[in-house]
Amino acid sequence: MTWWPGPRVPFDAAAYEARVRGGPCFVCRLVRGDPAQPELVLHRDGLAVTFLSRPGVVPGHTLVAPVRHVEAVVADFPLEDYLELQRRVYAVAEAVQATVPAERLYLLSLGSRQGTAHVHWHVVPLPPGVPYPDQQFGLFDLARLGVPDLTADQHQALATALRTRLADRAPGTP
Ligand SMILES: [Zn+2]
Repeated sequence: MTWWPGPRVPFDAAAYEARVRGGPCFVCRLVRGDPAQPELVLHRDGLAVTFLSRPGVVPGHTLVAPVRHVEAVVADFPLEDYLELQRRVYAVAEAVQATVPAERLYLLSLGSRQGTAHVHWHVVPLPPGVPYPDQQFGLFDLARLGVPDLTADQHQALATALRTRLADRAPGTP
């Protein structure tokens, strides 16, 4: 497939906001296995859950979150838990980079106390060939750029490839 710009569709900001602000925490619902959540879980254990973002900024956009609902990106973690979570982010970043073309990886923790308060990290592969104005902050201008229009099969294929990469690592990790 073409990785940039690839097929893209307008970003439905209203639907997104309703989903992340309109009820219980969507990450907690995902952790509980709520079938209404559209995200595809790649890995889950007692500490963290890893899942493909939907719609995601680019194909392969993956999120890592603690399974416990905490909101402060540093202050809510004992140091050891924080470092262990960062090991997951590292492993996921390696898996993403091995699965989709990326000339750079962006790692961010965003979120909002008025929306998705559950702390999480974004692993975002910058596809090769993205014009400079559309890199960095520009990549997240979804009102302008839209979002990837992946079929369900393409989304599943990405999830399968990423799960395989993660499973190839030593037991007990991503
Ligand atoms: Zn939560």
